[in-house]
Amino acid sequence: MIPDEDFITDENIPGPTKEEIRCMVICKSEVSPDDIVVDVGCGTGGLTVEFAKIAKKVYAIDRNPEALKLTEKNLKKHGVYEKVNLIEGDALQILDSELDKVSDTIPDFDILMIGGSSGDLTSIIKKGYKKLKNKGKVIVTSIMLETRVEAVKTLQTLDMIPEVVEISISKGRIVEKGTMMLARNPVTIVSAKKTLIY
Ligand code: SAH
Repeated sequence: MIPDEDFITDENIPGPTKEEIRCMVICKSEVSPDDIVVDVGCGTGGLTVEFAKIAKKVYAIDRNPEALKLTEKNLKKHGVYEKVNLIEGDALQILDSELDKVSDTIPDFDILMIGGSSGDLTSIIKKGYKKLKNKGKVIVTSIMLETRVEAVKTLQTLDMIPEVVEISISKGRIVEKGTMMLARNPVTIVSAKKTLIY
């Protein structure tokens, strides 16, 4: 995993997702070199870069053009820019093939990563689910209590069985007296696999 400090950051753009959380997301996603990933709300590009290091192709969506510029910088810095398509716009519209022509450029995918949804989580999951391949995975990272509840309920309505993992990490800071442990905010990772029975 790339250390947090190796990402270019901007105080107005969230991210990067902390290293240990990125680690767990990549692990839970089971991303492989054949996979196509959609990263909704790419922010700083923390997760986009990590997915791009492994996957065949990543489609990174953000409605904030500044976030896309920052993600582009981080992709270039880490040598994976050519593996990523950056798409500016609202994830809901982009994933809605009936509403938006841009979505034609996104083929069916193996992983739907949602790191930002601004009130549209249920609809984004439902829209994304339609283009998610069988055995594909949905991953939602959340810092808000409500987001994780919404993710679990929505995945259940789609007959998926969500796994919910909350990660609380403390990191040691070396000070004069020794190593001081500093707690970070807990993050919840909700993940589920699409399993169609024919
Ligand atoms: N995972 C990122 C951080 C995500 S921050 C990283 O590791 O760097 C969440 C991002 O989601 C923000 O940049 C915000 O602009 C974006 N976002 C929120 N709702 C969105 C939506 N409906 N469509 C597209 N982008 C959205």
